[in-house]
Amino acid sequence: MPWRNTRDPYLIWLSEIMLQQTRVDQARPYFDRFAKRFPNIRTLAEAPLDDVLLHWEGLGYYSRARNLHKAAKQLAEKYDHTFPEEYEEVLSLPGVGPYTAAAVMSIAMSKPYAVVDGNVIRVISRLFAIDTDTRKSATWTRINELASALMEEHEPGDFNQALMELGASVCAPNNPDCGHCPFQNVCMAHQDDRTRDIPYKSPAKKKPHYPIAVAVIIDQENRILICRRPEEKMLGGLWEFPGGKVEAGEAPDAAAQREALEEVGLHISAEPSPFLTLKHTYSHFSITLSAFFARCTSPEQRPVSKNGEPQKWVDKRQLGNFAFPKANKRITDYLLKHPLPCPEKIK
Ligand code: SF4
Repeated sequence: MPWRNTRDPYLIWLSEIMLQQTRVDQARPYFDRFAKRFPNIRTLAEAPLDDVLLHWEGLGYYSRARNLHKAAKQLAEKYDHTFPEEYEEVLSLPGVGPYTAAAVMSIAMSKPYAVVDGNVIRVISRLFAIDTDTRKSATWTRINELASALMEEHEPGDFNQALMELGASVCAPNNPDCGHCPFQNVCMAHQDDRTRDIPYKSPAKKKPHYPIAVAVIIDQENRILICRRPEEKMLGGLWEFPGGKVEAGEAPDAAAQREALEEVGLHISAEPSPFLTLKHTYSHFSITLSAFFARCTSPEQRPVSKNGEPQKWVDKRQLGNFAFPKANKRITDYLLKHPLPCPEKIK
């Protein structure tokens, strides 16, 4: 991996942020594209947020991209486009937690901070037969202390990467290859035949599901209305079509009408025309999204943003210039492949 052959703290930071909640094979092309467009702190700090989000589009968890951008600006202003060398200072950057801070400190700067990811949690909890819930912070703290105690002062980055690699390749979640593990003579879970039970993770809570309705509003010039989400909200800074949750007892087309009025102050067609239904899962909930074509009932109306965020009427061929969240991206993909209905034909 390109981020394993470098000591550039910027690239290591970028890769660790991308690899949060994302598999290596998924992150790799995004890393290459992002690092080519923003090869250092300066280029990232000076780029507009829209450009950063566009290069992140499809990777999900967009707060990561917004925090990267915010942190790059801090690094530019406070540290003259370099990384600080103190752990606490790295940890204070937006979006940087103990895992990322330890990875940057140990791999880029050879400082002895233990990196604790899912692989390390598995290896350490099995080595010491820790059977408490790994979702609990007390368990994480204990594992972090043990990993730190085991760490060699010499090349801590190699130690961290070796432990992660052992977890990824030998100490697998199911059927660990203990016969080829360098720890087999000291591993308590292996010796007690408890590798099936350790580590223990309590079951995840069931995610709520929400029906969502969105309106693809078309004007007389065949342009489509898109709105930017407030930066402080989930998926902040990304563009979307006006819409929102369908309320209890409400029909999705009525919800699309209501949301258009609430969000952008537009009265839309009485019978918005359904054209796409899709399901999407976020980290904490899932949705069924119904998309409707609609037109303004009074062509002289001008959209007014409820939250002061920008909105634009765009030709559908321009949609690729804006970053959309995944579910909305599926709508833009549909729009690019299919002709728009004539506004007069939408009732
Ligand atoms: S001996 Fe087995 S369970 Fe223990 S660390 Fe090695 S692979 Fe994992």
